[in-house]
Amino acid sequence: MRIADVRAYALRATIPRPFGQSQAFGNARSAVLVEVVSDEGLSGWGEAGAGRHQEPARHFVDGFYRPALLGEDPLEVERLWEKLFAILVTSGLTRGSTIQALSGVDIALWDLRGKALDLPVYKLLGGAFRQRATAYATGLYYTDDADHLAALREEAAGYVAQGFRAVKMKIGGASPREDLRRAETVRAAIGADTHLMIDANQAYNAFTARAVGRDMASLDVGWFEEPLPADDIDGYLELKAALSMALAGGEALYTRFAMREFLARHAFDIVQPDACNTGGITEFRRIAALASTWGVQVNPHVWGTPVALATSLHLIAALPPTPPCRVPTPLYQEPVLEFDQTPNPLRTDLAVEPFRLRDGYLDVPQGPGLGIELDHKAIERFRVA
Ligand code: CA
Repeated sequence: MRIADVRAYALRATIPRPFGQSQAFGNARSAVLVEVVSDEGLSGWGEAGAGRHQEPARHFVDGFYRPALLGEDPLEVERLWEKLFAILVTSGLTRGSTIQALSGVDIALWDLRGKALDLPVYKLLGGAFRQRATAYATGLYYTDDADHLAALREEAAGYVAQGFRAVKMKIGGASPREDLRRAETVRAAIGADTHLMIDANQAYNAFTARAVGRDMASLDVGWFEEPLPADDIDGYLELKAALSMALAGGEALYTRFAMREFLARHAFDIVQPDACNTGGITEFRRIAALASTWGVQVNPHVWGTPVALATSLHLIAALPPTPPCRVPTPLYQEPVLEFDQTPNPLRTDLAVEPFRLRDGYLDVPQGPGLGIELDHKAIERFRVA
């Protein structure tokens, strides 16, 4: 079997009401999908993390990776990862969009490999420790609602009613005092038995993050995510010594090389590699192996289409409980799945069967490859390039 084509699709959907976090506010969602086609007519699909900037990742797939992949054996996924990575190394292009694009290609190759071998990706990864993943709701952003606290209260209560046992809210987009009020509102709405996580999207310096963490400590925070700029290892270590709550981060770190110091110095309690950002399934697995050697929990960051969700579900299925114990518990030994609940047609409309929460869990897909079927008409509908 040979690779006959590699295609990148830039997708964009506008949403009726804008929302935001500490770094951005907007009314559109975007994604880059990658399709690898074999000479036998099989297609594998991947997703390149794109955020607000789709064009660089799409350009790298079309201009750099496609020529390097045509005619290659798509089953040799890890060799192809190294071949593509080698294109970047001497130019210093080993962070950001180039790695997001590589992630999309790598995920597409794993999907294709699973389809060719008629096996779900989690079996290719060595087997499932669980057939469903505890999902937490990512939402509770800043909105332009006239009564923001009432809107937060209603949204938070809605997640509990849907069966979520954990929710994550945004902070860092208002003053610490206002964010404390917002977090108190959410905690009151979800009750004591639902986990609450807070995510600052890198909005603070260490002294502000320390004050915010201390203010919020009484709210029983499950983890404090990206309190600091992504590269600030010493800031994370300082914060970790000062706060009792777990610190999480890593969604904006690219490849195991960026993760190495954070893991070796135990700067995170929880590392959140995003398979669509950090180098695909191949690199996520290497990062998870590194994390396990320093006892760091792995909870994947997920933000995107059903391709990103399916990829993360297979990865979660294959992650062992850390550490092993008799009754592995979500958030303590068991990995949990980030399930974005913000308005996004690219999450809800691209798969023939959208992912649905059942009893607080998402099922791991069982079909070959990633185990999802994409709606090609919907892809064309949202396609901008
Ligand atoms: Ca985050």
